[in-house]
Amino acid sequence: MSHPSAHADLRLYLRLLSHVKGYWPMFAVALAAMIVLALTSPALAALFKSITAGVFLERETDLTRLVVIPVLALFSIAGAASYTAKMAMHWVSDRVIMDLRVAMFKRLLALPNAALDRVRAGALVSKFTYDVTQLKEASTNALTTAVRDTLTIVGLLAWMLYLNWAMTVIALLAGPLIFAVLMIIRRRLRKMSRKVQDSMAGIHHILDESINGHRIIKIFGGSEQELRQFTKSVNQNRRQHMKFAAAAAAGSPAMQLITAFAMAAIIYIAAAGAAAGTMRMDEFNSFFAALLMLLNPIKRLSRVNEHIQRGLAACESVFGFLDQETEPDAPRARLGRVAGRLEYRRLRFAYAASNGPVLRDIDVTIEAGATVALVGPSGGGKSTLVNLIPRLYEYRQGRILLDGKDIRDLSLAELRRAIAYVSQEVILFNDTVRNNIAYGHAGAASEAAIVAAAEKAHALEFIRALPRGFDTLVGDNGAYLSGGQQQRIALARAFLKDAPILILDEATSSLDPESELLIRRAMETIRRDRTCLIVAHRLSTIENADHIFVLERGRIVESGTHLDLV
Ligand code: ADP
Repeated sequence: MSHPSAHADLRLYLRLLSHVKGYWPMFAVALAAMIVLALTSPALAALFKSITAGVFLERETDLTRLVVIPVLALFSIAGAASYTAKMAMHWVSDRVIMDLRVAMFKRLLALPNAALDRVRAGALVSKFTYDVTQLKEASTNALTTAVRDTLTIVGLLAWMLYLNWAMTVIALLAGPLIFAVLMIIRRRLRKMSRKVQDSMAGIHHILDESINGHRIIKIFGGSEQELRQFTKSVNQNRRQHMKFAAAAAAGSPAMQLITAFAMAAIIYIAAAGAAAGTMRMDEFNSFFAALLMLLNPIKRLSRVNEHIQRGLAACESVFGFLDQETEPDAPRARLGRVAGRLEYRRLRFAYAASNGPVLRDIDVTIEAGATVALVGPSGGGKSTLVNLIPRLYEYRQGRILLDGKDIRDLSLAELRRAIAYVSQEVILFNDTVRNNIAYGHAGAASEAAIVAAAEKAHALEFIRALPRGFDTLVGDNGAYLSGGQQQRIALARAFLKDAPILILDEATSSLDPESELLIRRAMETIRRDRTCLIVAHRLSTIENADHIFVLERGRIVESGTHLDLV
C-alpha cells in the first residue's frame, strides 16, 4: 500500500486541470474576476484608513465624497467580480464534468468483456453520477476558494506589512502552525471520504439488484432480507458520513483557536504602540480591519482542503476507470469479402476468473456456408467456443482463422461486421420494435428491409397486430413481449444484418409449439447462404445441422453428421 503522498495528489490534480485546458479563455475570465475580487479586501482596509483619517483626524465634512461614493463603488465592483467568477467557474466545471462522463462512457463501451464481467453495476452508476460531481468540488469550487482567498490573504498581508511590519510578522508566524493542523486533518478526511464513497456504491448495488430481481424477490419472499440489507447499507453510509463530518467539524475550531492566540498578541503590540505614540489611529483602525478580514478567508481555506480531498478521492476513482485497458485492436490485415470459412487451430482458452482451461486442443474446420451444431453438457464450453469468434474474450494459445486470416490481425469493427449474433437471453432495448430490429444501423436501414427481415423471422404477423405496429415500445428488455416474440425480433435483427457468419445461442427455455415451429422455419431460412454456429438445445436443430460437435469439459469428444453420431 502506498501512502497518498502530496506528490500523487499533485499529479491527480494536474491531470484534472488538464481537462480544463480546452476551456482556458473562460477559465482566464474567472481568474481575472477572482483577482479583482481579492483586491477589494485590501482596498476596503485602505478605505478604512482614509475614512478614519478624513473623519477623525482632518475633520472633513463632505461625507458623500469621503464615505458613500467609495464604499458603494467598492462593493459594486466586488459584487460584479464575484458574480463573474462564480458563473465562469461553473461553466468550466460543468463542461469538464460532461467531457469526463462522455469519456467514461466511451471507455465503458470499449472495455473487454473480461473486465465488464467483473464490473458491479451499482458501483459503476455511482462512479458516473456521484463521483463525477464530486470532482466539481476539487476542480472549481475548491479552486475558486483557494485562489481567491489566497490572493485576498496576500493582498491583506501586503497592506498590513506596509502599515506595520512587526505586527504583521506575528500574524505570519501563525501560518505554519495552521498549516500543520491542516496536514493532520487532511489525512483523516481523505481516508473517510473514500469510505463514504464505497458505502454509497453498496447502496447503489442493492438498489440495482432489487430492481432487476424484483420478481424473484417477490415470489421467494426476499423483501425482508433485501430491506434488512438495504437498511444496513444506508446505516453504514450514514455512520461513515458522520465520522467524516466529525473530523471536518473539528478542523475549523482548532484553526480558530490558533488564530485567536495570534490575534491577542497582535492587538497587545498595537495597544502598546498606541500608548507609546508610534501608532496612529487611522493606521490602527485599518490594520485591525485587515486583520479581521483575514479571518474569513482563512476559515474558508481550512475547509477547502476537505473539498479538495473529497474531489481527489473522486478523481482517483474516475481516472482509475478511464485508465482501464480497452479491447486490443491493432489491425494488421484487411478482411475484404467474407466467405465464412472458420478454423480453430490448437486453441486453448481460460477465463481470467476460472481455474484451469475452459477449452483445450480445439482443432476443427468449419466450411463456409455450413451449419454446425454444438452440443454437450452444460458448462462444456459451447458458448465460450462461439464467443471467441467476435473476440468477446482474448485467447492466448492457438489461433482462430476466418477465411485463412488470423482474427487477431483484423480490426474489431471489420470482424464484428461479418458476424450476426443471437444470444441465449435475448437482449432488447427499451425502444420501438423497429429500432430494436434495426439496432446498430442508426437509421440507415430502409423500411422495406426492416419489414422483410421481420417477415423472414416470422415476426411480421404479430408485430402488425401490436397496438402501434413497428412503433410499439417493447419495454425494459422486451417486458411487453412473450419469449417467442422476443426471440423472433432477435432473429429479425440478425436477418437485417445479413452477415456471412451467424452465431446463435439457442434458448434453453422451451416455447409454445407454435412459436417453436415459427422459429424453426425462420432458422431454416436464415442458415442458408451463411456459416452458422449454433449452440443447440433443440433436437430439430441438431437433426438439420451439416455437422455436429460434442463438447465435454472443454474438449471436442465426438463429431460428425447426425447420422454418424446416432
Ligand atoms: P456451455 O455453453 O457449454 O454451457 P460455457 O462456455 O458457458 O459452457 O462455460 C464453460 C465454462 O466456463 C463453465 O465452467 C463456466 O463456469 C465458465 N465461464 C463461462 N463464462 C465465464 C466468464 N465470463 N467468466 C468466467 N468463467 C466463465
